[in-house]
Amino acid sequence: MERTLILIKPDAVQRGIVGQVMSYFENKGLKLVGNKMMQLDDALLKEHYAHLADKPFFPGIASFMSSSPVVVQCWEGCEAVEVVRKLCGVTNAREAAPGTVRGDLAMSIQSNLVHASDSLETAQAEVPRFFKEGEIFDYNKQNYEYLYAPDEKA
Ligand code: ADP
Repeated sequence: MERTLILIKPDAVQRGIVGQVMSYFENKGLKLVGNKMMQLDDALLKEHYAHLADKPFFPGIASFMSSSPVVVQCWEGCEAVEVVRKLCGVTNAREAAPGTVRGDLAMSIQSNLVHASDSLETAQAEVPRFFKEGEIFDYNKQNYEYLYAPDEKA
């Protein structure tokens, strides 16, 4: 099973739709294995958005992402990284497909409600960036045998 990192951004916290955003992942059948609130500081944001450090919009993102606490979550499931990216929709929320978090609930490129790891390699770096040992939980989820009935060749 893969694990992936989600940040529910300040716009979701301020709009009071954290539960609504989270319900996309929960309803899909992913397993919540880490969940907490954090105030992101400059050092963590620089590390997390290192790939965007040269972009003109970087200062805007840094100030937006630290404008209020965020909700940090780790979700587990089969192909969880790709499943969660698809559920979030594309970066520009105005272009995101209906049925996705961004497509259903947002109108902005910057304030697009959610961050999701973009590859398994990224997820493996991002989960320990935001969660300490002991903050990720291993437990049995009762309905897994129904969610993960074996795929057969067609
Ligand atoms: P994603 O979050 O979809 O993986 P990126 O990693 O490219 O997208 O960008 C990280 C975040 O930076 C986006 O989610 C968004 O909040 C912000 N961002 C990206 N492009 C822009 C832009 N052109 N203007 C303002 N903010 C942007």
